[in-house]
Amino acid sequence: MVHAEMLEGGHEQVTHVVDEASGLRAIVALHDTTLGPGLGGTRLMPYETEAAALRDVLRLSRAMTYKAAAADLELGGGKAVIVADPAEKSEAMMAAYGRFVDRLGGAYVTSVDVNTGVDDMDVIAGETDHVTGTSDGLGDPSPVTSRGVFAGVRASVETAYGTDDLSDRTVLVQGLGKVGSGLAERALEAGATVKVSDVDEAAVEAFAAAHDVGVVPPENVYEEPCDVFSPCAIGGVVNDETVPQLECDVVAGGANNILEDRAHAEQLRERGILYAPDYVLNAGGLITVATEYRGGTMDEALADADRIGDRLLDLFERAEDRGITPIEAADAYAEERIAAGGTALAASD
Ligand code: NAD
Repeated sequence: MVHAEMLEGGHEQVTHVVDEASGLRAIVALHDTTLGPGLGGTRLMPYETEAAALRDVLRLSRAMTYKAAAADLELGGGKAVIVADPAEKSEAMMAAYGRFVDRLGGAYVTSVDVNTGVDDMDVIAGETDHVTGTSDGLGDPSPVTSRGVFAGVRASVETAYGTDDLSDRTVLVQGLGKVGSGLAERALEAGATVKVSDVDEAAVEAFAAAHDVGVVPPENVYEEPCDVFSPCAIGGVVNDETVPQLECDVVAGGANNILEDRAHAEQLRERGILYAPDYVLNAGGLITVATEYRGGTMDEALADADRIGDRLLDLFERAEDRGITPIEAADAYAEERIAAGGTALAASD
């Protein structure tokens, strides 16, 4: 049964591990390692069934292959899940997990994800070198993510309006967390009119007190007129209900899985709204851990995040040339890069 799912998703290897003493139950999935080791975080969740954990790790590892390939990284796609309640997490469990990661010999490189943090990576680092996101590393990747999302917003504006000048543009940021607040600040610095929205009223009030922004109630965010709608909170916000409401020319944000379904990319295109593929825009986090793993610096990670703008311009051109949506162009770019064995493809190949 696992083999059939692997064949369907194109996965190379799925490793189930248990350690009775510490209670560890984990699954590591390597999707495609043509371009390099599969780098992806370890998610710890109390999955109700093993099948649910397997489904998640297969889906997440595949997404990492595409994110890494589209970001021109020499990395493949991997991900791991630990089936546990966060309250059951222990040092012994993470150490046992680290020994299993080590046994994979570098084919899989782990990092932080939901319910795993820097402390856990430090424990894992006691057992293996194939880990990033430790306290010796480059730290919180969010500033790099924000920078990449901003580069993507600029490139999207250039494609939609023929100039990347933001001074006549209104950017609406949904979610004022680590990514969204950084994006809003950059957009303000670039002269844009900025509107913000968050379910956390205190976060909105604090941000609005310190910055010249408009505030949009969360329940009105989709119908609020703007040039760029930038979802930086949760996934699935572009869906059957919201697509008809949107009053923008561009959707470009940092949240993962902005589209509830791939079909919504087509619906946006039919409405004349340019959609910037989320996994291309928000690759800054992966860029940071990839840079850390190869021993690079934060400045190098930030410079790489700036290149997201050019990557996106190239993808918009490819989408136009081929008559496909930008997210299909991103998928195709990643697949072509893997098929070519690794080099970045020249523009409009
Ligand atoms: P965060 O937890 O710091 O901030 C999220 C913000 O969104 C919070 O202020 C929260 O109140 C708000 N929010 C939640 N639900 C909302 C809703 N329905 N409407 C409006 N606001 C809502 O998270 P973050 O690190 O800024 O990440 C934001 C998104 O970007 C997530 O989807 C995350 O997966 C994605 N992402 C983040 C990184 C990174 O480096 N932090 C990298 C890649 C992708």
